[in-house]
Amino acid sequence: MNRKVNRLVRQLFLVGVVCTAIVLLTGGVHAPDGALGKKALVLTAHPDDEAMFFSPTVLSHPHVSALCLSTGNAEGLGGVRATELVASYAALGVPANRVAYVDDPALQDGMDTAWDPAHIARIVAARVCPSDIDTIVTFDNGGVSQHPNHIATFQGALHMLRTWDARCKRPAPRLLTLNSFSWRIKFTGTIAAAGQVIAHTLSGTRDALILASPNMYFAGLRAMHAHVSQLVWFRYLYLVTSVYMHANWLHVTEAT
Ligand SMILES: [Zn+2]
Repeated sequence: MNRKVNRLVRQLFLVGVVCTAIVLLTGGVHAPDGALGKKALVLTAHPDDEAMFFSPTVLSHPHVSALCLSTGNAEGLGGVRATELVASYAALGVPANRVAYVDDPALQDGMDTAWDPAHIARIVAARVCPSDIDTIVTFDNGGVSQHPNHIATFQGALHMLRTWDARCKRPAPRLLTLNSFSWRIKFTGTIAAAGQVIAHTLSGTRDALILASPNMYFAGLRAMHAHVSQLVWFRYLYLVTSVYMHANWLHVTEAT
């Protein structure tokens, strides 16, 4: 029995080493020219989303602005977490003057709070419409973790684009959404990231796949460490195992 377990551990270790090598050797942005746009808004729901899920994108994009739709005040730490948000983005290379958050009574952090997509659309449009932002990066309809605030964030972005012509007098930005994966894939780190390299290459998709270099991975860790109030033990486990620390598959999403 012990011999079988030892053999399995050795095989898993070998698979991990090979997959890490694949990710390192193919690292960078895999996307058609211009797919990421010139100026992107990273639209999130809570402080720490940017570090836990979007760090490869934020670190790879030439120009990122940020809008976070809440202060993450579910435990009364909204003021602290807003400060942590700015520090986290600083660790990812985004200056404070490009980081915004809202503290809106209708958009409070919580699994049981329903966020109205039309209300989100108004807030995001007020930021995007008068700017030269040409790309919005946010969650998809799985919200990475099925968190209702994440899903509402996606729905709000979609609603904004569907009502764009009535609001704004310039071309609508493109929408890139972060692919949600099942937990079996989500928590297998570089193994899942290597799988995405192969799947992305074979698919011939217009989607972008962004792979973190070792330096980017460590910058992502530093960003998460800015969220001191959130560093409970299972977050460390997340940082070691999550595929989102290594890879962001951004799906080109049509607002139809
Ligand atoms: Zn979140």
